[in-house]
Amino acid sequence: MAVSPEEKQGGQQEYLDALPIAAAVVCEGAKGILQIERANDHFRSLARCDERLGGCPTDQIDALQRGPIGLALRDFLTDGSEPVLQFEAGDGQVIGGRHFIVRLARLSSGATSTRRCLISLIDKTAQVDTERSLRAEMLRDSLTGLPNRLAFNERVEEILQHPNFKEGSYSVVVVDMTRFSRVNECVGAMAGDELLISFARRLFSALRAGDVLARTGGDEFGILMRLDNGLPDALELGERVRTVLTTPFRLSELEIRVDCSVGCALLTGNVELAEEVLRNAQFALKRSKLSGRSEVYEANQAKAARHRFSIETELRRAIEGDQLTLAYQPLIDLPTGQVSGFEALARWEHEDRGQISPTEFIPVAEESGLILSLGRWALDSAARTLADWDRKAGKILPLYVGVNLSAIQIARDDVAAAVSGALSSSGIAGSRLTLELTESAIIQDPQRATKVLEALKGLDAKVAMDDFGTGYTSLSYLQRLPIDTLKIDRSFVAGMLGDGDSVAIVRAILSLAEALGLATTAEGIESEELAKALTELGCTHGQGYYFARPLEPQAALDYWLARNA
Ligand code: C2E
Ligand code: MG
Ligand code: MG
Repeated sequence: MAVSPEEKQGGQQEYLDALPIAAAVVCEGAKGILQIERANDHFRSLARCDERLGGCPTDQIDALQRGPIGLALRDFLTDGSEPVLQFEAGDGQVIGGRHFIVRLARLSSGATSTRRCLISLIDKTAQVDTERSLRAEMLRDSLTGLPNRLAFNERVEEILQHPNFKEGSYSVVVVDMTRFSRVNECVGAMAGDELLISFARRLFSALRAGDVLARTGGDEFGILMRLDNGLPDALELGERVRTVLTTPFRLSELEIRVDCSVGCALLTGNVELAEEVLRNAQFALKRSKLSGRSEVYEANQAKAARHRFSIETELRRAIEGDQLTLAYQPLIDLPTGQVSGFEALARWEHEDRGQISPTEFIPVAEESGLILSLGRWALDSAARTLADWDRKAGKILPLYVGVNLSAIQIARDDVAAAVSGALSSSGIAGSRLTLELTESAIIQDPQRATKVLEALKGLDAKVAMDDFGTGYTSLSYLQRLPIDTLKIDRSFVAGMLGDGDSVAIVRAILSLAEALGLATTAEGIESEELAKALTELGCTHGQGYYFARPLEPQAALDYWLARNA
């Protein structure tokens, strides 16, 4: 059945009116102005076009003539060839900031050559608004109302990605409240929250206009600041922060003084991610916790941390794979020149990196807890070597081995049980084992250290105080604890030749040892001159490259045979 054009047009209006969404038929008008041929009520009210169709001054409907929807419409009608185009668009300010899914569908041109299309608009404004407020909520710290870590990182990212960004023109400063968890435990969570809020307020008062403050962690706050005069600006901020914290905080009945640590990191071209800048500042913060000053991140810190971490992984493997060895450095009886024992020193020959020094891997072992298994291995291995030497010599040699004990072992391991195990499995007497521990092992927990040392005495083992003079052992401990030997730190020994102070210190240590009835071992003797000087001062034992470097077990035994025969 043929349909007349009028019937067809009337039918179109009927369909439009039946739709639950805003829809209109739009065509190209004269001079590129878009014309609405017909529209439904939804569309008219959205476009605020109340006039009757046909008479509607469509060039005044901004939404159609300008803005993203208008532009897309025009392109679609003039250039495009695809039958349908769908996109999301906000209408900017034009229709009260509404958001739509816009669908354009080409219509047949009919008798004329005018290009026409159907535009339909699904209103998504409510959904977009909800998303927006949800996002705002996601970016806000609910306790302080400050931007949170996510928001902070977004701000930093914006700056990093700005086309005019200049290296070093911004800094991230992190401020961490010291002892917050302790305070929180004492005063309770409510008061703790109150403290955090007041702390944030104080921080805010130290900022300049334009600085951004955010809560980046529990008791950690981040500040993003522009640097007008370089890094000094950031350090000055650190000072201002400390100043505003000098007045104690009032929490109901309590007055609490709160201090902070401050770490700074520059925004440079090398960092791509905001999270990295924050992490860098946190590295500096860690250092600030130790130094008590504001610290600035230096590029090699992260590298050092990564290096430590890879060493830890490989050290674990090396210990499990029995790849560590012990080298034995002779301990010389200075008056006679004979070898009285050996100090066992851990050695790690890494397959790619070569020798790694114990000064590098022992701290990693301590930090990671690996020192417990390393320490037990060293005890067993040294005792076994001594038993082996006896077997080779066919008699019990007048020798002892010194094994180093870390403060961590004293604190966390059952050292006496480990020593007793090493003695019984090797069969050597306790008196042939000397345990070397540093002053820090005692200072950390004197009571525990006392118990451990007494248990060691019970096994007949000896105890030497390693690196003596570098720690802060109180003299009363020296007197009270069952210590047999003081090992005078290498730094004093090496300094003796040129430096009167070092001589005085060594002399003082020697007379102290004499008064307490302790033997002495001078570490790091590198020349005959030093060996002589120390012997004359009354030092009983010496150790150092002048006599021998740490040796492999067989070479050590040969050294003993050559020297003591
Ligand atoms: P330490 O116990 O004070 O050991 C003496 C260090 O001085 C050794 O360094 C030794 O090689 C070095 N040394 C000896 N004579 C001289 C000398 O004349 N000149 C110079 N410049 N150095 C000399 P090493 O072997 O690098 O060990 C460093 C530290 O690592 C040791 O200091 C000890 O604290 C620790 N360590 C080594 N092995 C172990 C272990 O099995 N367990 C634990 N807990 N620590 C260990
Ligand atoms: Mg030692
Ligand atoms: Mg030492």
